[in-house]
Amino acid sequence: MRIDLHAHSNASDGTDSPAELVAAAVAAGLDVVALTDHDTVAGHAEAAGAVHALPGDTRLTVVPGAELSCVVDGVSMHLLAYLFDPEEPEFAAERELVRTDRFRRGRAVVERCRELGADIGWEQVQRIAGAGSVGRPHIASALVEAGVVATVSDAFTPEWLANGGRADVRKHETDPVEAIRLVRAAGGVPVFAHPGAVKRGRTVPDAVIADLAAAGLAALEVDHTDHDEQTRVRLRGLAGELGLLVTGSSDYHGTRKTVRLGAHTTDPAVYEALLAQATGAKPIER
Ligand code: AMP
Ligand code: FE
Ligand code: FE
Ligand code: ZN
Repeated sequence: MRIDLHAHSNASDGTDSPAELVAAAVAAGLDVVALTDHDTVAGHAEAAGAVHALPGDTRLTVVPGAELSCVVDGVSMHLLAYLFDPEEPEFAAERELVRTDRFRRGRAVVERCRELGADIGWEQVQRIAGAGSVGRPHIASALVEAGVVATVSDAFTPEWLANGGRADVRKHETDPVEAIRLVRAAGGVPVFAHPGAVKRGRTVPDAVIADLAAAGLAALEVDHTDHDEQTRVRLRGLAGELGLLVTGSSDYHGTRKTVRLGAHTTDPAVYEALLAQATGAKPIER
């Protein structure tokens, strides 16, 4: 079993459509892939259609999910949520709030970039984002198009879009204890995404992770491209101490990042344990 529990489509900042992501997951030899777009479930229906249209001898399970933008003590963090009821109104309203604020913030970031001499525009960013939940990676692609930086990741520096960078503008983000409550109330399973990704900025201290565990967090995403070996060892130890499960996943973003689907995977027993906690939705299977 090859299980990848974190992937993005063009419903947020990935470049594959949800149907293309399903095809890519089959091509990568995955048995299970989670669709976890930032603050949206907009890709779920298309992904489900693509799974149901697979040829009869092809097996793939899509776990419907999302990646929620959170903040604690000024430190941004991401919370993966799996198998929640997408219709549950309180959680749906919070995702909507974050998505709406992404537009205000996106315009403000573009304005800052223009003040700093980058010839990009909001129409251009909207073209790049399409219907997707708009974020800094779309603005990074605009900066690449304008020849300001060479690659998307080169835009995530203090000069431009990195947390606290010259053109970084904060968006609304949810308190993670509240987010965990919302996810659980919608029957979902919350997992802390890339908790040790230091290259993205400040990370959440262990004491706060302990608070999140007490609030109902299910797991830490330990095996992730943004974690070096030492970080993985440390996080695995912390998960053990706190009684949390450990997942691994690619955080695939299509061509907007270099990581490939299935680059990191989750143990089947852990996947089963996560499924056993979910009551809000079912995995999408052929
Ligand atoms: P936003 O949600 O708009 O604040 O943008 C955050 C997204 O930017 C993350 O989900 C990643 O896809 C991307 N990102 C953050 N830091 C980096 C980085 N250092 N290099 C490349 N992409 C990054
Ligand atoms: Fe992203
Ligand atoms: Fe993330
Ligand atoms: Zn992600």
